[in-house]
Amino acid sequence: EKTKGSLIKNIETVVRGYAKIDDEMYDDLEAVMLTGDIGVETTEYLLDQIRSGVKSREIQNGDDVIPYLEKCIVALLEENNDPVPDCTGTTDVIFIVGVNGVGKTTTIGKLAKYYTQQGKSVMLAAGDTFRAAAAEQLTIWADRTGVPIVKHQEGADAAAVVFDATASAKAHHTDILLVDTAGRLQTKSNLMEELRKMARVASRNIEGAPQETLLVLDATTGQNAVSQAKLFGDVVPLTGVVLTKLDGTAKGGVILSVKRELGVPVRWVGVGEGVDDLRPFDAAQFADALFD
Ligand code: GDP
Repeated sequence: EKTKGSLIKNIETVVRGYAKIDDEMYDDLEAVMLTGDIGVETTEYLLDQIRSGVKSREIQNGDDVIPYLEKCIVALLEENNDPVPDCTGTTDVIFIVGVNGVGKTTTIGKLAKYYTQQGKSVMLAAGDTFRAAAAEQLTIWADRTGVPIVKHQEGADAAAVVFDATASAKAHHTDILLVDTAGRLQTKSNLMEELRKMARVASRNIEGAPQETLLVLDATTGQNAVSQAKLFGDVVPLTGVVLTKLDGTAKGGVILSVKRELGVPVRWVGVGEGVDDLRPFDAAQFADALFD
């Protein structure tokens, strides 16, 4: 709603004013897209798409731009999205990465609830052993959602937590193991080393683990989220993004930027602080809601 009310309304206002497409319209469009947190690169890409629509005469006036743009946005968001890996008899290990404050712990709680509701067994691993309250907060979510948690003392080796958690999940035939990780991007090389070690240890107990590494990003930070994503992308191979706090922002355009500049699919969106406020991301539904 918020993104629609600003970004899309502004785009509509711009294009509706043009009976004929000219350079001025592109300039105006560029300005509203940039203020809508679509980012420079993705804005250029979308403007190029519109230019080809004009060339092929699919777009003949300003009104034609909106449905055309919706199609481009759906195509961009759906491009190269592998389906979410499903449980195949072994435990799916999902690493959750991201800087502190973006909503990592909350997202783990929401995912635990989601998968439990799907009839899957879930376990949590408190892999952020660095932040004092991290394991405590995660324990609250474990209790709230009724799932077991593996945790060690503060300051313990995160890889040891992962080793114990993967061993336990395997022994219990748990479907999904959600692993919290530390969000210290300041010490990039340490973080990289730690995450690599966690992955190595996980794969020792469960072949192919981690099957997913989800990066959690805070939508309210707009283009900063994209910079963060690039930094994390350099540190670990990401399989998907969770964009949180979409309820509180008009900066939803950042979804396009994240997808285009990272090439990683947006898997989930957070739309509130409650345990049920997580939605699997559906590109067509998202675009539909923006443009309806
Ligand atoms: P972490 O430091 O990354 O683990 O972040 P937390 O999970 O502790 O979340 C930080 C704050 O963001 C908390 O106040 C959460 O309630 C809030 N939060 C997380 N996800 C969402 C969301 O989707 N929408 C809103 N409005 N708030 C959220």
